[in-house]
Amino acid sequence: MSHPNAQEIAQALVDWFAVHGRDYPWRRTTDPWAILVSEIMLQQTTIPTVLGRYGAWMQQFPTPAHLAAASEEEALRSWEGLGYYRRVRALQAAARAIVQQHGGRFPTEERGIRALPGIGDYTVGALLSFAYNRPAPLVDANVSRVFSRLFNDPTPVDSPAGRKLHWKWAAGLVHPTNPRAYNSALMELGQTICTNGAPDCLLCPLRTWCHAENPAALPVKLPKKEITAVEHHDIFLLTPAGLLMEKQADGKRHEGMYRLPRRPAEFCISLPHLADQKYSITRYKVTRHLYQAPADTPPLPSEEFIPLSRLSATPMASPDRKIIQNHLPH
Ligand code: SF4
Repeated sequence: MSHPNAQEIAQALVDWFAVHGRDYPWRRTTDPWAILVSEIMLQQTTIPTVLGRYGAWMQQFPTPAHLAAASEEEALRSWEGLGYYRRVRALQAAARAIVQQHGGRFPTEERGIRALPGIGDYTVGALLSFAYNRPAPLVDANVSRVFSRLFNDPTPVDSPAGRKLHWKWAAGLVHPTNPRAYNSALMELGQTICTNGAPDCLLCPLRTWCHAENPAALPVKLPKKEITAVEHHDIFLLTPAGLLMEKQADGKRHEGMYRLPRRPAEFCISLPHLADQKYSITRYKVTRHLYQAPADTPPLPSEEFIPLSRLSATPMASPDRKIIQNHLPH
C-alpha cells in the first residue's frame, strides 16, 4: 500500500536529513554488529544514556566473537544501568549463533539475519537498511506517529490492525536507492519535528502531503495497562563469607542475575528495619523494605554468600546495587 506521492515524500525526507540529520556513532558505521548493538541498546533506553555507554561497550565487545566468548555474568554486568537485561541475553545468543552458524561473519541476507535469536521485524529493517543500504521497511514508535498523521489514520498504532497497516505504509514509502538515509530521516522526523503532543509542522519536510487534521490527537493508542503497586521484603546479611544473595533462576525476569534475598513479610516483621526503596519496572511500582537479618539466618538453596571482592563483577539490577552500596561498611 503506497501513497500517490511516495517518491516525492521519500526524496523530501532524504533531502531534509542531509541538512538536519544528527551525527551519532552508529550512523558513522556500516558494520552490522555495531549497528545491531546500537539498535538493541536504543530499544528501551534514551539516546543520551546510550551515547554515554555505547563506545565503551563496543570496545569491550567489538565483534560477535568477543561477546560469544564472554561469560553470562560478564555480559549481564556490562549491561548494568541500561535495564531490560533480556536484551543483552538475546544479543549474546545472536553473537553465538553468528560464530557457530556463520563462522563469525554477520549474515548479509534477510533470511540469515531473521533467523538470529531475538531479531524482530524492526531490527531486520534496521540492519538491512543501515548496514547494507537495502530498501527494507522499518517501523518504530516515531515512524508510527509520523504515519498516523501523514495518513490522518485513527487506527490504534499498537493494535494488530494498526501494526499491519504501518508496516504496509513503510514498505510502500521506502526510498529505493537511499534507504539508509530515508529510514534514519523518518525516525528522526518523529523524534525532533513530528513529536508527541503539538508537532512543529511549519518546519516539516512532509507538510505538503500531510493529511493530519488534528495532529496532537494522533496517534491513537490502546488504553494503557494499569500500574500495579508491589511490595518486597528483602534481607541484608553480611558475614565474613560475604553478602547473602539470591541468583535468579532460569525463566525468571532477571535470569542469571543476583538480588537481595526475599522473605515473607511475617519473617521480617520483627527484624531491624534498614531502609525503604522505591523504583519502577515496566508497569510495576515497587517498594522494597530492607531488614537486617540475624547472622544465623539459614540460606535457601538458591542463595549464596558473595565475597565482597566479587561483588562489583556480580550482575545485578541497578536498584539492588544502589541499596547494597548504601549499606556496605565503608
Ligand atoms: S506536517 Fe506536522 S503532523 Fe504532518 S508529518 Fe509533518 S510534523 Fe507531523
